[in-house]
Amino acid sequence: MQWETVIGLEVHVQLSTQSKIFSSSSTAFGADANTQADEVDLALPGTLPVANEQAFKSAVMFGLAINADIEQASVFERKNYFYPDLPKGYQTTQLEKPIVGEGYITIPCSSSDDSKKVRIHHAHLEEDAGKSLHEDFLGMSGIDLNRAGTPLIEIVSEPDIRSSEEAIAFLKKVHAIVTYLDISDGDMSQGSLRCDANVSIRPMGEEKLGTRTEIKNLNSFRFIEKAIHVEVERQKDILESGGSIRQETRLYDSEKNETRSMRSKEEANDYRYFPCPDLLPVVISDEHIEQLRTQLPELPDSRQKRFIDEYDLSQYDAGVLSADATMASYFEQTATQSKNAKLSANWVSGELIARLNAENLSIGQSPVSAEQLASLIVRIADNSISSKMAKQVFEGIWN
Ligand code: ADP
Ligand code: MG
Repeated sequence: MQWETVIGLEVHVQLSTQSKIFSSSSTAFGADANTQADEVDLALPGTLPVANEQAFKSAVMFGLAINADIEQASVFERKNYFYPDLPKGYQTTQLEKPIVGEGYITIPCSSSDDSKKVRIHHAHLEEDAGKSLHEDFLGMSGIDLNRAGTPLIEIVSEPDIRSSEEAIAFLKKVHAIVTYLDISDGDMSQGSLRCDANVSIRPMGEEKLGTRTEIKNLNSFRFIEKAIHVEVERQKDILESGGSIRQETRLYDSEKNETRSMRSKEEANDYRYFPCPDLLPVVISDEHIEQLRTQLPELPDSRQKRFIDEYDLSQYDAGVLSADATMASYFEQTATQSKNAKLSANWVSGELIARLNAENLSIGQSPVSAEQLASLIVRIADNSISSKMAKQVFEGIWN
């Protein structure tokens, strides 16, 4: 039997506002535990939330970047559940009237050279919870509330993704969009971008969707790819031996490389959502939205297209070089100064990226500046040095 994989992603992006979504505590990463939680984050009686204007601006910018409608009067609701890292006893989130409506994100297609649109169902604003620390204390758990109240946008895709490669491509595009917009640092190692993957399979050619499972809290590209892969295999085994899939939430165990049941649909929480009486609907005028539209930077798709048109790069090279805003400007600076786009593309996407990866550095930390690389390329182009010598010179500058 030929099976088709169907995936819908729910991506959480931490917004890089200075203060939290409903309080003035700092959102800076890495502070001592519980030094960045004030009376609002701790839910002391009598405190009231104040919505963070910048979080709304960031969400609107994201909505405009994915061609979505903006909800002009979005509403916060309370999602009630009990957990030690949630002092309020509810998460303030959006359900019926999320700030960002239907839109789409384009990704390269895994089965052909074309690109495809992944439809976005909506994106909403919400607050993050605190963190439970289960490892650092003997026989006890610690709670760090520094993260409580950090603003997030949750981006919910339609089930348009057909493979783990497409899932990664989708996440990379989300990463590119939010970092170009400068609304998030996109740092996955610090949890600024994480996702839940909804996975089902169906016989090839079948239209009806299969029963899905939801794998929670995946926070690296590698784990996402592996988790989807083992979950698809698990579902195939069950269906091929005549069983049926249970709709449930699962967790990925990276050590054992398997997914495990967390709770079934029947045991799912009843969150008793209701509109938060402490927060009014947030009304954003047309003028305000249009003003934010004028502030949109050049976005990854247009930059990729411009790299193809202006510098004659292949679709692939243009994709690699536009995937990260800092990388894109590094390349452009090198290409402009050396007046040789082809060699610049080769050096940046080849030697430089390989070297950065090997030392686990980001492009912003490159010891070789764009200017230095450009002068090296000028020398290669006018044949003053061979490419073999150029590699030694590159090493020298790097060191
Ligand atoms: P819920 O209301 O339980 O959160 P939704 O219908 O809103 O469920 O879907 C949540 C996510 O699951 C979305 O990203 C959606 O695309 C995805 N999804 C829904 N049905 C399927 C399916 N059969 N297979 C894969 N993903 C699915
Ligand atoms: Mg959901």
